[in-house]
Amino acid sequence: MAARILDGAAVAQQIRSETAPAIAAFTERAGRPPGLGIVLVGDDPASEIYVRNKLRSAADAGLRADLQRLSAVAPLADLLAVVEQLNHSEAHDGILVQSPLPAAMGADAERRVFDLIRADKDVDGLHPVNVGSLVQNRATLVACTPSGIIELLERSQVPIAGTRAVVIGRSDIVGKPMALLLLHRHATVTICHSRTPDLPLVARTADILVSAIGRPAFVTRDFVKPGAAVVDVGTSQLSDRAVVERLFAAGSKRRDAFEKRGSIVVGDVHPEVGEVAGALTPVPGGVGPLTIAMLLKNTLIAARARHGGWDRRERRRGLERRAR
Ligand code: NAP
Repeated sequence: MAARILDGAAVAQQIRSETAPAIAAFTERAGRPPGLGIVLVGDDPASEIYVRNKLRSAADAGLRADLQRLSAVAPLADLLAVVEQLNHSEAHDGILVQSPLPAAMGADAERRVFDLIRADKDVDGLHPVNVGSLVQNRATLVACTPSGIIELLERSQVPIAGTRAVVIGRSDIVGKPMALLLLHRHATVTICHSRTPDLPLVARTADILVSAIGRPAFVTRDFVKPGAAVVDVGTSQLSDRAVVERLFAAGSKRRDAFEKRGSIVVGDVHPEVGEVAGALTPVPGGVGPLTIAMLLKNTLIAARARHGGWDRRERRRGLERRAR
């Protein structure tokens, strides 16, 4: 039987509608909308698209988002100076530095930048204080992609407590926070990575399998326990015709999209997994829209925290509950 599709775009829309009244209430009370400062270094095409989508979604949601650009050869000191300026800005409640940074900035550039962003403006949840709070299950700002996945699972009635979950990928921004969020919801969690032996065997123990590695169609049916919920975080641009033809049948929507554009975005999960899994997130339209919705929500949470929390009127209207 074909897997149930977990519709990330619909859940993201739900989250945005629930957050909208709280954004309006904040704007009325503070005399300005919640503000998000985005910094983009270099001209990585994928990052350009992500940033454009974030700016558009923020504007649609009634936030004020602005973009500062640095050239691909800018020194790290310039980027640190921009972050410092955003740290001190009254108009910016959230700061997002788009990763990856150009390799020329140095191996420890991302760490130095994320450490410098004020913890209460860290809408990506990467500051060590926010990561520590997540470990202790008392976080306010949590990485957007994994917290969006939790929203998707919970709102799609996929049980988490008491299940076995396997997360493939151990990055600071997806794999590790994903594993912690599942653990806090009482799943028994295994984290896998490039040196995990017998990966398909381990993955097959999962009731919830999350793949966040960035390798097209890597997760085949032998990774998946029949009936499992499979979350595909990976996004890879595929332009190799032979691979596309192997993965998608002639006349399918994906093949048509490839014929039109010459490349398509695909996930980590092989299309054949749809025949084994119980539930599956599509790519595109699965995890991606949730990441953006959670970024907007985190910006609101940061703005509220910086402006004295919620007033009685907002609590009465349930805006606090809905924004959390
Ligand atoms: P990352 O920092 O490159 O981490 C990739 C992880 O995958 C690493 O832990 C790596 O293991 C593991 N890995 C790589 N090859 C593997 C293999 N053959 N077997 C097992 N594990 C393997 O990537 P990321 O930032 O977490 O992102 C992962 C993917 O998700 C990317 O495609 C990215 O574009 C996508 N993404 C999508 C969204 C969205 O909103 N849709 C958001 C964030 C990321 P090691 O640690 O051992 O190297």
